[in-house]
Amino acid sequence: MFDALSERLTGVFDQITGRGSLSEKDVDAALREIRVALLEADVALPAVKDFVKRVREKAVGEDVIRAVAPGQQVVKIVHDELVHLLGGEGEPEGLHLEGEPPVAILMAGLQGSGKTTTSAKLAKRITETQRKKVLVASLDTRRPAAMEQLAQMAERAGVASLPIVKGQSAVEIAKRAMSAGRLQGYDVVILDTAGRTSIDEEMMGEAAKIAEIARPRETLLVADALTGQDAVETARRFDERLKLTGLVLTRMDGDGRGGAALSMRWVTGLPIKFLGTSEKIDGLDAFDAKRLAGRILG
Ligand code: GDP
Repeated sequence: MFDALSERLTGVFDQITGRGSLSEKDVDAALREIRVALLEADVALPAVKDFVKRVREKAVGEDVIRAVAPGQQVVKIVHDELVHLLGGEGEPEGLHLEGEPPVAILMAGLQGSGKTTTSAKLAKRITETQRKKVLVASLDTRRPAAMEQLAQMAERAGVASLPIVKGQSAVEIAKRAMSAGRLQGYDVVILDTAGRTSIDEEMMGEAAKIAEIARPRETLLVADALTGQDAVETARRFDERLKLTGLVLTRMDGDGRGGAALSMRWVTGLPIKFLGTSEKIDGLDAFDAKRLAGRILG
């Protein structure tokens, strides 16, 4: 499906090449293929429409119609538009960690999205690549197992975690984490907020309070790339309440769909900062729009 988009496009043009010239109708046939491929990849309909319109504007130009290999030209236009939609060329936008330490990173997301794993991955990455002292803290008071899980992952990754104190509220833990960060000279404090099975007011209210206390420089939404359009709605709702600064998409090692990435970026306009690529602690890649566009196109 998704992976074979470039083949499908070239296929459409191969049928036409014999005739010599290319008409708008031919371009539209190719655009239909793109539309179907994107919808199959679970890209949200408004994003698909917008995308196809942009490609059409470029593809019906004289240059393309007169080109020796119009199929390849259209594939290139599709590629360039994908890169544009995913955040453009150039260096991916990294984390902003400037400011008076400790700088907080707030991790948000639904339960099972990979939030805890990503918090540990990120802590290790920042420790290693930026040589910063990082503290992680789980605020998931309703699930003691989640708190344990973060502590264990942090230990395996060689990163400090805030000692677990039973009976504290999430807001109290956030305060304790920030003051431990200050007193013990940490540069970065990663706060892993509670995940829920669905978004509710209580969850949002709590996360907003934590944000007030920690004043995070980055608020990252962790979303499972395999949940497709549900992830888009999640991103929209989290962004309304928490003012997200970026997205992390996990399970990009799954069945290879990039639909969620495209849709989430389109709906929220937020930069995708990292991709989770395995269950392992090192399975976190800096986001690269060109690479993902290439993968989507196949
Ligand atoms: P949380 O409930 O959001 O904190 O989710 P967890 O961090 O506990 O992750 C849920 C499951 O997804 C765990 O089994 C993780 O190992 C797994 N996981 C997280 N990120 C990735 C990823 O990028 N790729 C794969 N394959 N699995 C992941």
